[in-house]
Amino acid sequence: YGDQSQKIDYVFKIVLIGDSAVGKSQILSRFARNEFSLDSKATIGVEFQTRTLQIQNKSVKAQIWDTAGQERYRAVTSAYYRGAVGAMLVYDITKRQTFDHIPRWLEELRSHADKNIVIILIGNKSDLENQRAVPTEDAKEFAQKEGLFFLETSALEATNIETAFSTILTEIFNIVN
Ligand code: GDP
Ligand code: MG
Repeated sequence: YGDQSQKIDYVFKIVLIGDSAVGKSQILSRFARNEFSLDSKATIGVEFQTRTLQIQNKSVKAQIWDTAGQERYRAVTSAYYRGAVGAMLVYDITKRQTFDHIPRWLEELRSHADKNIVIILIGNKSDLENQRAVPTEDAKEFAQKEGLFFLETSALEATNIETAFSTILTEIFNIVN
């Protein structure tokens, strides 16, 4: 999954944030290793994973950071945000509360991160349509108002995971080029 021998043109740090159990670690594992685990335990140990991809003939290493169970309000430290050029703000489409907390995460992000950080709002678990609690329109409207990209994803079914990362990475790439 990615040729390790090539030279790297860019390294972009991306942070994953959002409430506990929305699927941040599974989104990362799907993107970095094309794996998914239904009984994933709370994140342990590993701080970030990487995957290198090509954008306009340059090799871009995405270094994606995952909260190690620090999702309590204000428990994520500023070191986590330091140097981040992109953020994925994740909620669970079946849990209204996780969407209601998004403004808080956004505020925290904006107070700690670089003001030019590229942000994408992610409604995960789109495979659970029959349990949906957050209408797509609500999220779309919020994202538009706040100037965020927006996508619904399923780490389980691998829906829109590639698109989500390529959207944010391409936008960052275009900003630095
Ligand atoms: P985190 O706390 O935000 O890192 O959440 P996890 O990645 O640990 O996922 C929490 C739970 O949701 C686990 O049981 C996952 O298997 C499950 N999960 C994650 N993504 C999806 C998804 O896209 N669809 C479904 N149905 N379950 C998911
Ligand atoms: Mg996790």
